[in-house]
Amino acid sequence: MIPKDHPRYRSLVARERLARCAREGIVALEGLAAHGRGEAFDYLIGERTTRSAEIAIQTAAAMLLSARHPVISVNGNTAALAAGEIAALQQVSGADVEVNLFHRTDERIRLITRHLEGHGVRVLSGTPERLVPLAHDRGLCLREGIGDADAVLVPLEDGDRCEALRAMGKAVITIDLNPLSRTARTATLTIVDELTRALPAITAACTTLKPGEGDRLITLLDNAYLLRAAIDEMRERLTHALE
Ligand code: ATP
Repeated sequence: MIPKDHPRYRSLVARERLARCAREGIVALEGLAAHGRGEAFDYLIGERTTRSAEIAIQTAAAMLLSARHPVISVNGNTAALAAGEIAALQQVSGADVEVNLFHRTDERIRLITRHLEGHGVRVLSGTPERLVPLAHDRGLCLREGIGDADAVLVPLEDGDRCEALRAMGKAVITIDLNPLSRTARTATLTIVDELTRALPAITAACTTLKPGEGDRLITLLDNAYLLRAAIDEMRERLTHALE
């Protein structure tokens, strides 16, 4: 039992949850390493949602709400850390949810689907087809899901697939603490923030965006500017770290 007043409470709870889900087969062992990379970058932004991430979050809400067919693509880490948060976002945005895995097996798809459904997520099911131009199982998706989507929210994505989804003409929104990753630099919109802070914030923004505000945010979207702002935040913190 982790004491609630431990200074690293949130981080320890996340690690415990990921380790449990890894033992259950929901999280791939490689996913634990990916989480570690994320934690390091979270330190650098001060484990809080920055001003530029807040703008990205508002813009993400606007894009999901204005999309013809928004889909949230969920992997093992996202399911382990934020199943309830995905359910809440699905509720307000009307997005479909599809399980899509780098380390794909039928058993993991089944486990993750059951885990998400246990938290109130409606998960798309069907026969996956190789619709994303990638030479391995990451190319598999549902024709009626990611295959048909015009906007895809892919938290914790890898660069190749992000690029392939963009090449298919889809708007890709990602949540990635590393502003230097290929995903961050390839996505239409990158939210440089921690998953479990960003998802509830997008959900809240979906319910508070004022009419007209969404269109304005989408018109102003400049992902390179948002990434530079995130890097500036990190540089600023490092410069004053020991003061
Ligand atoms: P790329 O191919 O885009 O360069 P990568 O090889 O860094 O990416 P992965 O190893 O797939 O990508 O890791 C996924 C990314 O998710 C990492 O960049 C990491 O910083 C980020 N990440 C991990 N956990 C979280 C989290 N909880 N919230 C936000 N981002 C996270």
